[in-house]
Amino acid sequence: MKVLANDGISRSGIELLEDAGFEVIVTKVAQEQLPKFLNEEKIEVICVRSATKIRKELIDACPSLKIIGRGGVGMDNIDVDYARKKSLHVINTPTASSSSVAELVFAHLFGGVRYLYDSNRNMPLTGDTEFKDLKKNYSGGSELRGKTLGIIGMGRIGSEVAKIALGIGMKVIGSDDHVGETNITLEFYNDQVVQVPIKTEPIGDLIKHSDFITLHVPAQNKPLLGKMEFDQMKDGVGIINTSRGGVIDEVALVEALADGKVSFAGLDVFENEPTPAVQILMDQRISLSPHIGAATKEAQERIGIELAQQIISIYQKETA
Ligand code: NAD
Repeated sequence: MKVLANDGISRSGIELLEDAGFEVIVTKVAQEQLPKFLNEEKIEVICVRSATKIRKELIDACPSLKIIGRGGVGMDNIDVDYARKKSLHVINTPTASSSSVAELVFAHLFGGVRYLYDSNRNMPLTGDTEFKDLKKNYSGGSELRGKTLGIIGMGRIGSEVAKIALGIGMKVIGSDDHVGETNITLEFYNDQVVQVPIKTEPIGDLIKHSDFITLHVPAQNKPLLGKMEFDQMKDGVGIINTSRGGVIDEVALVEALADGKVSFAGLDVFENEPTPAVQILMDQRISLSPHIGAATKEAQERIGIELAQQIISIYQKETA
């Protein structure tokens, strides 16, 4: 049985698969070469991240395929329904990167309240000649402790964000289409466990009451935060988006940053990936990262292991 991990897979994932008798190929095959390669090599399992596209045409062209594995959450790059209709297994690893994304939210938040996004731009330029001015400029930051964090989307990542927020003494409010009340379980290194119930509230209320707002929803048909929502927010609110581009109206965000309504934003995802709008990239009040929420070593390890375990389990069930 051959597995093509076209966008890479962790060493632990490869070892698990090899120990179970799979041959794992990690050569990156160009998208247009995939039908030929999959057929010639009789590949039964293809693992991808977001780069490789698995569309209907590829599925039709490669009858040897049995499993499509997505390392990560979103499956926009796979024709999932079509594959399942053709009796292929389509699997992903939805929980493996939740805490990585949550930590990135706080990288942007901690950086935001101390202006690091801007001082990192200016220290290399004038740090040696205008140190005192810069010091004055970036003094007067604030602390997260005691502030209110509004989490839109209390699913896997939203809940991980809530854990960190509670851990550093923030008040957490959440809003979710489907989740009413949720119990956040904080697990400490010494086996102590603390449960904190969080009741969700309508998004309109969350918007008015939050000092910082972070989004953790799937792709939406229209932005959840646009001009009307920004107008209702507290003055000087901070906004973080690590979910999907398009969930925030970027034009309205730039305007809200310009008039001071929003004091800073942290963005990991963009409307026009992989060519984000220049107005966003050049805005000095935005802390930027290139869609790296899930891209930690630990998450990639967990993703590889989870994919391997699911693939092995599917084969075991089929041969049982
Ligand atoms: P999840 O499905 O566990 O949670 C999403 C939650 O959003 C659900 O509880 C759902 O009810 C809620 N929701 C959906 N639409 C809503 C709306 N309009 N208003 C309020 N709540 C709404 O998903 P997750 O694993 O937490 O992932 C969240 C997002 O993070 C996804 O968009 C995913 O693609 C993205 N993500 C980004 C990265 C990254 O690298 N930046 C990595 C992984 C996931």
